[in-house]
Amino acid sequence: MADLVLHVGRYTAQGLRPNNEDRFVVDLVHNIFLVADGMGGQERGEQASGMAADIIPRVIQNRLAAQDQASDAVRKALAEANEAIINAGKTQPEGRRMGTTAVLALRQADQMYVAGLGDSRAYLIRDGKVEQLTVDHSVAQALVASGTLTPEEARHSPYQHVLHKFLGCAGLNEGAEVRPLTPQGGDRLLLASDGLTNHITEEDLCQGSKQFANPQDWVEHLVSLALERGSRDNVTCVVVAFETA
Ligand code: CA
Repeated sequence: MADLVLHVGRYTAQGLRPNNEDRFVVDLVHNIFLVADGMGGQERGEQASGMAADIIPRVIQNRLAAQDQASDAVRKALAEANEAIINAGKTQPEGRRMGTTAVLALRQADQMYVAGLGDSRAYLIRDGKVEQLTVDHSVAQALVASGTLTPEEARHSPYQHVLHKFLGCAGLNEGAEVRPLTPQGGDRLLLASDGLTNHITEEDLCQGSKQFANPQDWVEHLVSLALERGSRDNVTCVVVAFETA
């Protein structure tokens, strides 16, 4: 990937919420990109997503400096953020937990490493095709995987936004799956919170990646579109565009 140049667009909108619990990281020095969505309905979501945005890039850098493999560095960073958020939550009054999603991408040599916990998503748009790289860790999605619900039923399920894996989750034993990816010129890698993905279709992503050459113009368009379509949530999106030098 030495001959690929990265251009990045990033945007976050508070929307109709009283505060913005989404956080993002665009670090072009260490090549770390992240979106975290502090969990609605749980106290201190903002603090949890802020901890994820702070801890994960720092631990990745430390682990890479200690010669860890990239995927191990990502897994350890997620595990460390999880522990820290669980511990921070222990100081909260009984019944008030802290949690956040996190989806991230790390560029190391000619590879990207993508991982997610929760229901923030990563998508790859390549050659006019859209692929979701992460699995939603929602109860509804787990019921689809087990054949209990159809994807259509899952969209209307009360469990659609109930997460069984996230940062701040005590049962995170098996950790996160880290997906390696070899980028090509023209690829777009998109990270987004559910405030965006609930209102943007794969067809939108396919069209927009052709229409908008500049990733900043594209993310601003996508966030506006999600808000126009009635997103009441915080809406956050980071796009990494890979261009042949
Ligand atoms: Ca959200």
